[in-house]
Amino acid sequence: MPSLAVIGHPVAHSRSPDMQTAALAELGLAGEWTYGALDVAPADFEVTVAELAAAGDYAGVNVTVPHKAAALAMADEKSPAAAAIGAANTLSFRDGRILADNTDAGGLLASLPRSFAGEPVLVLGAGGAARAAIWALVEDGARVDVWNRTAARGEAVAAELGARAVAGPDPADYALIVNTTAVGLAGEDTFEALPLAPDSFTEGQTVLDMVYTEEPSALLTAAAAAGATVVDGLEMLVQQGALSLRIWTGEEPSLEAMRTAVRR
Ligand code: NAP
Repeated sequence: MPSLAVIGHPVAHSRSPDMQTAALAELGLAGEWTYGALDVAPADFEVTVAELAAAGDYAGVNVTVPHKAAALAMADEKSPAAAAIGAANTLSFRDGRILADNTDAGGLLASLPRSFAGEPVLVLGAGGAARAAIWALVEDGARVDVWNRTAARGEAVAAELGARAVAGPDPADYALIVNTTAVGLAGEDTFEALPLAPDSFTEGQTVLDMVYTEEPSALLTAAAAAGATVVDGLEMLVQQGALSLRIWTGEEPSLEAMRTAVRR
């Protein structure tokens, strides 16, 4: 009976077990496959994953904060996305070998209503989630500008991934705005912390906020009020999870079952 899990620290808040269990049930695999959560401290990560890979009962794991870079570092094989992004959120165990992938990149593109190839896109942030977003959007042909609170970090990430760093972007210039910063999680004022104002948005723009909270974020509330198309972090969570499940099972999971489970 193949096992799957999300490994993080902390991990109790993760919606992945409910979401992936619902997808497995819809696929008729609930009796065969299980998906749980493993809280593993950074010091124990490598040993734990090596044991899971060697034991043979785990087909793979999702990896979340703070282990994504460590997951890539210990892999025997790395997908082009994981290698370029410098982080893995999906590990597969095959014959004792560890294969690393990054489905945050494909999940981000899948959560958007259309391709932004050839169009100007603004990514806010330069951390791990930003690296996945920038790499995916550049690969898809978008013209990506990066703004980050710590400008030097934004400049380094933009240069490495084929984007352009900007210090004072005009939000009206962009067809798509993606927030990858953690702003909104700890109750910060979004419009103080980011180079946006509540009236920054226009009809015809798309705005994606990777942060997910119980209530719609201040960013998405303002964008929706302006008539922009909004995509929340839960939709991206569903899409990256569906890609991971496809890698492990070879099956096409039900996005609707996964959406229902994460929004419950
Ligand atoms: P990270 O590597 O720690 O990066 C955090 C980023 O947020 C940095 O660019 C940082 O800027 C910026 N930031 C933090 N506090 C800020 C503030 N008060 N004002 C302005 N900028 C601030 O984190 P991460 O792994 O990229 O994750 C970021 C968020 O994305 C998390 O909330 C995570 O849950 C979410 N995420 C969602 C999904 C999904 O599927 N929906 C997937 C992956 C990640 P500095 O460089 O200046 O510190």
